[in-house]
Amino acid sequence: MGSARAFSELRLVNGSAGDPVLYIDYPDGDNAILFDGGDNCSLTMQQLGDLEAVFITHHHVDHFIGLDRIMRANIDRDKTLHLFGPETTIQKVYDRIRSYEYPFFPFQKIVVRVTELLSGRTRTALLECTKKFPEPEIREQVWRGRVCYENDAVTVEAVPVEHTVPCWAYALCEKIGFHPDPAKLAGGMLRPGNWVGDVLRKIRVGEPGSTILTIQGGSFTLDSLAENYFAESGGARVAFVTDTQWSETLRPELVKLAKGASRLYCDSFYAKKEAKGAAQYKHMMAHQAAELAKLAKVEQLVLMHFATRYAGKYEMLIDEAKEVFPRTTAEI
Ligand SMILES: [Zn+2]
Ligand SMILES: [Zn+2]
Repeated sequence: MGSARAFSELRLVNGSAGDPVLYIDYPDGDNAILFDGGDNCSLTMQQLGDLEAVFITHHHVDHFIGLDRIMRANIDRDKTLHLFGPETTIQKVYDRIRSYEYPFFPFQKIVVRVTELLSGRTRTALLECTKKFPEPEIREQVWRGRVCYENDAVTVEAVPVEHTVPCWAYALCEKIGFHPDPAKLAGGMLRPGNWVGDVLRKIRVGEPGSTILTIQGGSFTLDSLAENYFAESGGARVAFVTDTQWSETLRPELVKLAKGASRLYCDSFYAKKEAKGAAQYKHMMAHQAAELAKLAKVEQLVLMHFATRYAGKYEMLIDEAKEVFPRTTAEI
């Protein structure tokens, strides 16, 4: 049995053959999570404006080019956008932001909170629009364990992987507890809106079920809202692993990261016969993605980051993975 999941949308933005980008959204606003910063042209400005946190694996262009659209969608918002990545992310994001000319309208209050992940420590800086983006002040902190980000609904874990440049793999883990139920919300009498977040906070802090709330002209008890629009679920894990070799030393860490995941999205750049290329450019082969899926006992493996040389014959990669792990899919 799979873990109940709370997300309302889980989308491999460019499919298995394009830049690996994963968009995960939840009911309510400003709470979407994005894994990787490659091409995101098929996400609307509204979807990007709904982002709460972005997790960059590394700075190769196919994983970082989309930062411009992320900034554009968020620059006139009054919120904090969290952005994670490997060392030098602060300077790189700062340089990009500084490369634009701004009118600096008073309503532009975006704060980009950039965190660099290093082994055993993090470096964080706030890039603030209201201050007209002065040089970042960096705060360094000890970082133990794997959790790099946490909100009321999810935690995100990170582990360093082995690519040609510093690179991280991530997993999102939903907390067990009450979450908005996307199906119930879609079919319910009340239109989704700000009340969803308000009601959720009241449920989570344990306000009495008899509390009466007025929403869209009607009165409801907290208990009835909990039953009709929310579900007790969570624990679902989604792992995002890309641009790494599959080595003995990395194996235990990646297996732990992907353990029991509802879905593992995994690098499968090469087929078996390109073992040399995989070793040289530090990518995974499709059958290695399947080995990881098997060891981590995931529910579903989604292959991604197919090299363009396989265009028209992607089936080859899918078949090689399926031989090792039958619950393999790809989005072509
Ligand atoms: Zn790369
Ligand atoms: Zn890549």
